[in-house]
Amino acid sequence: MNDLRRLVRTIPDYPKPGIQFRDVTTLMGDAEGFKEAIAGLAQPFTDVPIDAVAGIEARGFIVGGAVADRLGCGFIPIRKKGKLPWKTIGQQYTLEYGVDIIEIHEDAIKAGERILIVDDLIATGGTAEAAAKLISRSGGLVVGAVFLVDLPELGGMDVLRRHGIATHALMAFEGH
Ligand code: AMP
Repeated sequence: MNDLRRLVRTIPDYPKPGIQFRDVTTLMGDAEGFKEAIAGLAQPFTDVPIDAVAGIEARGFIVGGAVADRLGCGFIPIRKKGKLPWKTIGQQYTLEYGVDIIEIHEDAIKAGERILIVDDLIATGGTAEAAAKLISRSGGLVVGAVFLVDLPELGGMDVLRRHGIATHALMAFEGH
């Protein structure tokens, strides 16, 4: 069993002073560590029916695609505004400074489909909460949300749990 935390590189004061950037590319680049991480993310849902993983751009695509393959389900991309080629539904969410919009293809989810949200990291939970709203508005059911890294001081997992979403992270780091 690898200590997955040791495979995550911390970059102080990136992209701005006070942020400890938790860089998961070093974990992804480690064959054993990546395999173990994907297995760990999928594990709580191996006996749960899932129709598709929804991965959030961009690192959520890498992790989410691998989790979807492991669970034997489809993959749905949730992207920043203006990137998806077909008709979309958008959801605005608040960032530290200002707002952003993520989008999903309007026909990506059929009514009643069971969807698992995957991203690399949860901080305030704003991005994942917006993803959950997009899935619900598309007629899907959010079965859970999984992340490699949680920053508990920012409370994102609590935000999702208040929506009744089963939420898991493989590791936690202090700070922002
Ligand atoms: P939030 O919406 O606040 O939960 O932010 C989550 C998104 O921002 C994820 O897609 C992360 O990739 C990115 N993110 C936020 N904080 C960090 C951090 N300290 N290190 C690396 N990525 C971060």
